Amino acid sequence: MKRNIGNLVIILCVVLTVAVWLVFPPVDDGRDHFLRVYAGEVIGSVNIVLMATALFLSTRPKWAEKYFGGLDRMYITHRRVATTAFLLIFVHVLTVPITLSGWKLGNYLAVIAFTGIVSTILVSLAPRIAFLNKLTGGTYDGWKNLKKYIGIFFIIAYIHALTVPHPLDAFIAINWVQVFFIVGAVSYLYTEVFGRFFKKFVPYTVEAVRHPNPSTTEVTLRAKKDPIKKQRAGQFLFVRFPGERTLNESHPFTISSAPHEDVLRVTVKASGDFTRDLFHNLKPGMDAVIEGAYGMFDYKTGGRKQIWIAGGIGLTPFLAFLREMDGNPERDIDLYYTVRHKEEALFLDEIEAAAKRNPRLKPHIRFSATDGSLNAGDILKNAGGHAADHDIYICGPFPMVQAFERKFRAAGIPAGNIHYEEFNFR
Ligand SMILES: Cc1cc2nc3c(=O)[nH]c(=O)nc-3n(C[C@H](O)[C@H](O)[C@H](O)COP(=O)(O)OP(=O)(O)OC[C@H]3O[C@@H](n4cnc5c(N)ncnc54)[C@H](O)[C@@H]3O)c2cc1C
Repeated sequence: MKRNIGNLVIILCVVLTVAVWLVFPPVDDGRDHFLRVYAGEVIGSVNIVLMATALFLSTRPKWAEKYFGGLDRMYITHRRVATTAFLLIFVHVLTVPITLSGWKLGNYLAVIAFTGIVSTILVSLAPRIAFLNKLTGGTYDGWKNLKKYIGIFFIIAYIHALTVPHPLDAFIAINWVQVFFIVGAVSYLYTEVFGRFFKKFVPYTVEAVRHPNPSTTEVTLRAKKDPIKKQRAGQFLFVRFPGERTLNESHPFTISSAPHEDVLRVTVKASGDFTRDLFHNLKPGMDAVIEGAYGMFDYKTGGRKQIWIAGGIGLTPFLAFLREMDGNPERDIDLYYTVRHKEEALFLDEIEAAAKRNPRLKPHIRFSATDGSLNAGDILKNAGGHAADHDIYICGPFPMVQAFERKFRAAGIPAGNIHYEEFNFR
């Protein structure tokens, strides 16, 4: 329940915004199309509320994680809120009566805000829409840099609302929306300008670099002074390496070591520019800067019977779980780990050793190129056909996570028993 509070608060803010406009309506000054102007203002206000919320979530407020179920879930909410705001802009434009004469500053600002917001939100959604992905060149950095402008258009949209000719006389509703505008504008400035002075960036040193297979790097990090605040197994951090230009951008990785270890380990698959550079150029002795830990993907939230499903590098949070348990699971766990080929599999010895130490842990390793893809039907059959009393933890590529979630839901497993981590914020 607690992890839904964040989403409920957002819905409540939207409902209250509409309610404030209905309970304290504007004075009908007898103008033409009064109702359309009124409806347009209500929709525009909801838009400001949603955009302010999206900008607020972009600040990565650690304290709010528990109300969303983790930072990754906050990003999902961010995406949904931004998409709704995007669609509502069109409804707003179609609702308000638009004349082409007698334009004042407010009208010109409306055009700038509309064009700017629509194009930046389209860019934000691009990674989910194949043909739009080309717009950003497909890179995360290109995507992130273009998104930076959204706050400027948000501020322009608000000034448009204040300077539009013949504004409605609705003191209370306008001041209500003003609060959200301030939240959005301050959040934007925090993210882009002054947040860096408040966030905790903790200095570490790269103690060891290992390559467990030809595309993976295991990095061991030791705190220079105080380590990051005690983390839970399964959490992730943001790390950058300021000594090397191409490695000096912050990327998220799961902490694959156990919380009780005095070092942090991350296990990184070379999949793009940054992770490939890390594979080739990261050396022991280099500086690292860490922010975190974030995330609420935690087997301890589940019951006695658990199913863990790891696809490829999605094994990392489960490694942290196993290392924390140290051969003493106190739960019946079926761990499904799927990779294409045997050579890609990581830490098989360690997984087998953990299973030997505790028979309640049953690993099922699947090489999809030879054994066929892992599917929900097999997992359910292994669980005796009734997995509804199991907690299922899934981590891997987004399409895999989505497909499993759909199948388990269709098999009658309650949504609250399915926990997943998305390795993707876009
Ligand atoms: C919560 C979480 C935990 C993760 N844990 C691991 C892990 O343990 N091991 C591992 O190998 N990978 C992990 N990842 C994925 C890892 O962050 C990306 O593979 C890596 O950032 C890719 O960067 P790139 O430049 O090499 O690839 P690109 O091809 O540039 O990016 C590939 C994808 O990674 C994401 N990404 C890229 N840069 C960033 C960034 N700066 N911040 C956020 N996302 C970015 C984007 O969705 C992008 O589409 C995790 C991701 C998340 C969100």
